[in-house]
Amino acid sequence: LGSKLCHLRHGRVRVAVRLRPRNAEELVADADFADCVELQPELKRLKLRKNNWDSDTYEFDEVLTEFASQKRVYEVVAKPVVESVLDGYNGTVMAYGQTGTGKTYTLGRLGDEDTAARGIMVRAMEDILADISLEVDSVSVSYLQLYMETIQDLLDPANDNISIVEDPKTGEVSLPGATVVEIRDQQSFVELLRLGEAHRFAANTKLNTESSRSHAILMVYAKKPVKGRDSSLSSENGVNSHMIKSSKPPIVRKGKLVIVDLAGSERIDKSGSEGHTLEEAKSINLSLSALGKCINALAENSTHVPVRDSKLTRLLRDSFGGTARTSLVVTIGPSPRHRGETASTIMFGQRAM
Ligand code: ADP
Ligand code: MG
Repeated sequence: LGSKLCHLRHGRVRVAVRLRPRNAEELVADADFADCVELQPELKRLKLRKNNWDSDTYEFDEVLTEFASQKRVYEVVAKPVVESVLDGYNGTVMAYGQTGTGKTYTLGRLGDEDTAARGIMVRAMEDILADISLEVDSVSVSYLQLYMETIQDLLDPANDNISIVEDPKTGEVSLPGATVVEIRDQQSFVELLRLGEAHRFAANTKLNTESSRSHAILMVYAKKPVKGRDSSLSSENGVNSHMIKSSKPPIVRKGKLVIVDLAGSERIDKSGSEGHTLEEAKSINLSLSALGKCINALAENSTHVPVRDSKLTRLLRDSFGGTARTSLVVTIGPSPRHRGETASTIMFGQRAM
């Protein structure tokens, strides 16, 4: 029963909503209008305005207002996932929302100009480096872009078609062709993210697309050998190792953290008049709807999570359900002009709960 409860608790998706402050353009253009949402963070509620006198109310695990600091966002959205990764489990942190609502700000901000502005990727690595001991443990990363069902290596631009390999027995996912870089210190990690961003920009210019049309995926592998004979709490691939005899060599506690800056969730003009091809639109819709189906299945504790429908969900297969933890932050803007997109983002988050 204990393990069953643990399974249920870990399997659930935690969903936070984050509101971006009005930008300069909205401060002017929407000056005479109220925001399309009203947040009640202490009640963990969000009201979506229907008209001047009526609104719909939604509950989330966490409601982050335009005043929420990056530190607080990290603590509620990502820290519990990072901690479970350090305990040897897999975990995922994802940002979903319309382009321009703060997905990259939330996850990928480097904070060169201001350390308080650092996003989840940088803070997660800082916590991981603080926890491990570099003499015995290791942390390494891969950084990828998933565009039109093709995985590109952001750490090696020549490597533009990485395949996903799934172990049929354990369900463990690996990316044999991807560059894996061992991280020794925070500064080199930040430089690696910067390099990845530059490669992403160059690749997208070549493909004549925008970064909002692809998913950026950071994989972080943390490995800790568990010393001593009493390793009853250790785990391999998230599986409790109490069945492994203590005469065996030290067990490695392996956790994988996946941070996904998803493609913009806005409906794309399928006529191609805004420079988007029909193929691009189809592929984004395919991967986001496949992701939606998987997290709905997790939320409902269904035994069948339909991971096969897209590369995105195949990649996340071993990070879904079981002992893995998933945290989703849905990002929204305040403008009443984007109420429709905001409503659909809120519904995506609601279905995940
Ligand atoms: P997305 O990745 O979803 O397209 P961005 O993260 O690029 O959106 O954010 C769009 C713009 O809004 C950027 O200029 C970013 O700095 C700003 N922004 C986003 N979220 C916030 C926030 N919480 N506070 C202040 N500025 C923000
Ligand atoms: Mg972005």
